[in-house]
Amino acid sequence: MSSISDGLKDIISKASLSARGSSLSRIRKNALSEPAAKWVAQSRIGCEVGHALSIVLATPGCTHARGGKGGCTMCSYILDGASQKVSAENLIQQFKHAMTSLEGLSGPISVKVYTSGSFLDPEEVPLEARVEILRVIAEDERIHQVVLESRPEFVTDEVAEFVRKSLGDKELEFAIGLESSDDRIRSLCINKGFSLSEFETALKNAADHDIGTRAYVLVKPPFLTERDALLDSVQTIIEVAKMGATTISVNPVNVQKHTLVERMWSRGHYRPPWLWTVTEILRRTRNQVSLDVNIVCDPVAAGKTRGAHNCGKCDDTFVKAIRKFSLDQISEHFEGLDCGCKREWNHALEHEDLAQIIHSLRFRIP
Ligand code: SF4
Ligand SMILES: [Zn+2]
Repeated sequence: MSSISDGLKDIISKASLSARGSSLSRIRKNALSEPAAKWVAQSRIGCEVGHALSIVLATPGCTHARGGKGGCTMCSYILDGASQKVSAENLIQQFKHAMTSLEGLSGPISVKVYTSGSFLDPEEVPLEARVEILRVIAEDERIHQVVLESRPEFVTDEVAEFVRKSLGDKELEFAIGLESSDDRIRSLCINKGFSLSEFETALKNAADHDIGTRAYVLVKPPFLTERDALLDSVQTIIEVAKMGATTISVNPVNVQKHTLVERMWSRGHYRPPWLWTVTEILRRTRNQVSLDVNIVCDPVAAGKTRGAHNCGKCDDTFVKAIRKFSLDQISEHFEGLDCGCKREWNHALEHEDLAQIIHSLRFRIP
């Protein structure tokens, strides 16, 4: 990367660190026997509709966020983690506690294990906990699909082989937050800390053991105009599908506390994406990507000022259409969506000015 890019990268990293401030010292003490969060929802599992249990284990959090680089510009998941030491036994207890939510449900079931970081990072989830959690999942015949979230550097050939052996022939995906296929956007706008080639290596390591990759694509990282964000997400989805991703999860930015995005948003320099943009991304890419690849979207805080939103009157209709699309992959749900705010969205697409966004930040370049 050029020295100008390195300089910018450093500025963004410092700005991200500064936005986090002292928030890490205020992480509340969680009951370590319970996960940070768990929920059950309808979900598309292969070609069927079943239930998905999502579990967020309370771990010490993402190494990238804990380190000196400030973490990603839009993410404060680390604040959901635990401030105290978390043992393997604690994590096993948390997992088993979450699994009780599946009582009485029949298959197909999908279990998604998140950690506000990387399930495959042994510093976050000790090996002993990983082994026991995978054993419990392997023994439950209702569970057809398993999703494990991780940064790509932890998806080695050895780890992929171990997970595959542990889970037998269950459908398996590693969920990786690629966010954008453009190295400059991922590095400068998101401060992600890994390259596209690292993502590709992880995808290959997974595929070598018949493990799919669920790629997260971020809609509207900071410092992009609405139009550039739309184009970047469309291009990223098409590229990761070509690389071999099995599911693409489209994630519009939501404004999380103590992040650079929140700092910009609170000063009026950032607006989360329009729901119009989100539906347009889904519509355009569904027509261009093989139907073997699921494209899903569950926008967090949709319709609220901190989440993807339109004018307030039409938001619910858009969110319902997005949810239906995620279940059946039919983009016709977006046909007929209309509202007076479409003109305002079109205006933002045509006239939002990147120079103003950057100028408004008043970053001093050393
Ligand atoms: S988005 Fe993922 S990699 Fe980035 S700070 Fe959050 S948990 Fe870590
Ligand atoms: Zn509207």
